[in-house]
Amino acid sequence: MEKQKQKSAAVVGGGLVGAMNTCYLSSRGFKVDLYEARPDIRTMEIVRGRSINLALSYRGRQALKKVGLEDQVVQDGIPMYARMIHDLNGTLRPIPYGKSDQYIMSVDRRKLNETLLTAAEERPDVTLHFQHKLVSCDLEKGKLTFKMNGGEDVHVEVTTDLIMGNDGAYSAIRKHMVKRPRFNYSQEYIPHGYMELTVPPHNGEFAMAINYLHIWPRNEYMMIALPNQDKSFTLTLFMPFDMFEQLKTGDDVVKFFMEKFPDSVPLIGEESLKETYFRLPPLPLVSVKCFPYHVSDKAVIMGDAAHAMVPFYGQGMNCGFEDCLVFDEIMEKLDSDLSKVLPEYSMYRSPDAHAINDLAMYNYIEMRKSVNSRWFLMRKKVDAF
Ligand code: FAD
Repeated sequence: MEKQKQKSAAVVGGGLVGAMNTCYLSSRGFKVDLYEARPDIRTMEIVRGRSINLALSYRGRQALKKVGLEDQVVQDGIPMYARMIHDLNGTLRPIPYGKSDQYIMSVDRRKLNETLLTAAEERPDVTLHFQHKLVSCDLEKGKLTFKMNGGEDVHVEVTTDLIMGNDGAYSAIRKHMVKRPRFNYSQEYIPHGYMELTVPPHNGEFAMAINYLHIWPRNEYMMIALPNQDKSFTLTLFMPFDMFEQLKTGDDVVKFFMEKFPDSVPLIGEESLKETYFRLPPLPLVSVKCFPYHVSDKAVIMGDAAHAMVPFYGQGMNCGFEDCLVFDEIMEKLDSDLSKVLPEYSMYRSPDAHAINDLAMYNYIEMRKSVNSRWFLMRKKVDAF
């Protein structure tokens, strides 16, 4: 019997979803080349980018499990069994996520990405290409052009059986899809931006109760904190851009925090607060919906490239991981026939992804406002922030 030719896949983007998809595609027998615009984060001292830590929940863990990485990732995570609400008067109120043994996990984004890249690299027929930025493509023909970073203006051309677009919220692959007829696309920037601050360890220990996702809900804006392995907490302040802009000096910032988040000031430290607030500008938050996710039997987008969402449901990465699992299940069901798998994936996955997008937008209000309400305290809910 004639041996079937090995199919090739080009994964564009070596973030969380791209690295995971590389593991899945290698397991399905593809020859996989992953192209990432940035240098290899495993060799970098400082990685600039979004959120230092993330909440990993059930749907994300299921996807990690199938590629044999759940235990490795979970052992480095910190369980969070409840929200800890910080009222303005200093009262602390825990609100459990569910039953006493149910929790979500705080995990380090960089470590998780590194674990996934190393796992991908160790699989058969996988090659990782860093400093390769996608600059143009022909999705119908499976052709991609990358610009190599590193001095000279070198371009690399690639032809592949499957383009896997995992290049994040501002996806270059999706930009090509937008130009196609009957491609639905919408994006929305919310008025809020976000900024990260740090609560360092105090006397070598966590400065707040460890196994909680801390929330300071203040209606118009809010702050959250997730624990890190090094006993610090990463705080994220979500606030309308015009409010960020009103705080012009270090003293303005300290005054604002003393009024609105008084218990956090001794934990962050006044000097550190002043310094960190002005170090980087607040970053925007975008929500993207589109349909379909594929082009013929050649290209498909997943993760933030397909459904970037506001982070208030803690599900962007989890949903992106679940995309990989769902795609793999459809590959199994349809015998890896890409002409059937890709349309099936778009049809099956888009209603769920759109629903999670909507839930994230709903939680944008719930987290900063409704957690203060009586009604909220009577409800039980486990998978979200
Ligand atoms: P990305 O992580 O953005 O990776 C895309 C990769 O593609 C990057 O490495 C980029 O360099 C590369 N790339 C981009 N363009 C090109 C190109 N042209 N050529 C080659 N490579 C390219 N999710 C959760 O589940 N839980 C949370 O608690 C959570 N918290 C969050 C907090 C904040 C403040 C934010 C902003 C997001 C949060 N998210 C959370 C969402 C999560 O960060 C994203 O959903 C997740 O990172 C998406 O992964 P991705 O691989 O699709 O995209």
